[in-house]
Amino acid sequence: MFVAEDCREIFSDTQALLEAIKRADKKTRQVHGPEVFLERAIFLSWYCEKGSCQFCYMSTQKERIRDGKRARRRPSSILAEAELLRRIGWKVAFLAGGYGVYPIGEIREMARKVHEIVGEPIWLNTGILSREDMSGFDESVEGVVGSVETVNKGLHRVVCPGKPLEPVEAMLDSAKEIGLKTGMTIILGLGESAEDLPALMDFIERHRIDRITLYTLNPHPGTPFADTPPPPSLYQAGVTAALRLRFPRLRITAGTWIDQLPNIGIVLLAGANGITKYPLFRMFGNRFGRKVEEEIAAAGRRVVGTFTDASRLEGELKTTFPEREEIESALQRYVLRIRRGCGPA
Ligand code: SF4
Repeated sequence: MFVAEDCREIFSDTQALLEAIKRADKKTRQVHGPEVFLERAIFLSWYCEKGSCQFCYMSTQKERIRDGKRARRRPSSILAEAELLRRIGWKVAFLAGGYGVYPIGEIREMARKVHEIVGEPIWLNTGILSREDMSGFDESVEGVVGSVETVNKGLHRVVCPGKPLEPVEAMLDSAKEIGLKTGMTIILGLGESAEDLPALMDFIERHRIDRITLYTLNPHPGTPFADTPPPPSLYQAGVTAALRLRFPRLRITAGTWIDQLPNIGIVLLAGANGITKYPLFRMFGNRFGRKVEEEIAAAGRRVVGTFTDASRLEGELKTTFPEREEIESALQRYVLRIRRGCGPA
């Protein structure tokens, strides 16, 4: 078993880190195979009533948006994005929305519709859900995600002052009790250190977490982190390798940003199953999308879906939803936008 002592070693001895990555790569191929999934969260709104997490883009929007309901996306635009992801073979990482924007009935309804479009059950990352809320989910919902961000409690109080961890933990436990899967998000680079890794492992074990998304800090203008660099690629790789070795079956998704694409190869070697957080509309079909696919290939893994094949943008919308026409026209706008950003064929 990979324990606290091993964690310390991989961050103080580069040979131990390389050895851990090597073992993690082997374990990932044995347990999960060579596939790498491209994932994208679908946002339901651009507003969060908390708006106080120091790293979050939505914290920069709270004062600008007087009525959170008006920051909701149109359902047709959400469903068009789901159809787009289906066509290019990407996974919906989860439906995401800030706190206090959608009542549970509407979240359930949206999960059903997105499920119908993509043909796979959906994960939800929409704030704290009660046991009663979650008991009403049908087969369209696979699991819920808790936005944990950091398990360092002192740091958490500072960076997420309005989002205590206890309700997140209670939600994850209730979800498990009623048969849902559970996921969590972590942001690396907020000020935590390798010393916090054993606590992260403990959290995953205690709450029987099925999947984790390991983002690295994306420094948003207007936040206290605006001038903070994302953490080193080898730190993200070390954390990923440690989790893979300790939890062989855990599904790990690594998220960075368009300026961190060279991280992809090493985090895949370290055991990530998927990658996320890349701006689809700016990267598809051009040198950035190609770079993603080349990083995956260089790690000896096989991409599921495409970041480059523009012919996959076209397709047939097979839904009978009343908003079908609106979805079609939102799709056309999306496809046009992506095609404009594509490089020469
Ligand atoms: S609760 Fe989530 S969406 Fe809201 S400010 Fe914090 S991180 Fe952002």
